[in-house]
Amino acid sequence: MSFERIKKFILDTLFPISCVICKKENAWFCQNCFEKIEIVSEQVCPYCEKISSTKGAICPKCKLYFSKKNKEIFLDNLLVSAKYKRGRLSKVIHVYKYNFISDLSIPLGKIILKALVKNNIPIPDLIIPIPLHPRRLRWRGFNQAELLADFISLNLTIGLEIPIEKNVLQRKKYTPPQMKIKSYKERVSNMQGAFCLKKEEIKKIKNQNILLIDDVSTTGSTLLECAKILKFFGAKKVFGAVIARQEIS
Ligand SMILES: [Zn+2]
Ligand SMILES: [Zn+2]
Repeated sequence: MSFERIKKFILDTLFPISCVICKKENAWFCQNCFEKIEIVSEQVCPYCEKISSTKGAICPKCKLYFSKKNKEIFLDNLLVSAKYKRGRLSKVIHVYKYNFISDLSIPLGKIILKALVKNNIPIPDLIIPIPLHPRRLRWRGFNQAELLADFISLNLTIGLEIPIEKNVLQRKKYTPPQMKIKSYKERVSNMQGAFCLKKEEIKKIKNQNILLIDDVSTTGSTLLECAKILKFFGAKKVFGAVIARQEIS
């Protein structure tokens, strides 16, 4: 355990839990503040981010562009659940990831779940959380995308646990966090070749409809890179879902 984590542990023991936003005691994200988070009512095309689309599918204009360029579509849909800056959601996500409050995976998972239900997305065969590099996993102590995926796997359909695969995709490149890189081009190239899939895992994803889960997307390049690998090895459809899209400042 790092010094920071020990310090955090001691502080948590000495001081009671309080809402990240309003400081009310007993919950990290109180019901009142949670209910202020609105689920996005209109999804947009994940590629141009301009044209509204059903279930965050690629718009006809981008589709035409892709086919003209002979480019394959790897990520079929991207569902963005809420607005990053609205209701101080960004603060909650930040505390979840950087103050290591893993309990926040439940309300944050609920936000994605609400968006999945609202958009009536098809039930996936398999859920895959975006993996962390082992070094970052050791530092954080948990994979934030994995905890969100766990919640969705258990709660998307009543009485049915959707299979989840946590080790199929692996992050082989230790990349700086996307939010620390300013240019779009650099963010895309930062992700290229960042993931891999082991040969013996191919059978698990073949012909499957996969739901990829991540906490936030910036340019969408992380999800795109994962979708590319999954499609390359035979996945049928790849649907991405995130809590929010972080605008590049
Ligand atoms: Zn509150
Ligand atoms: Zn588009």
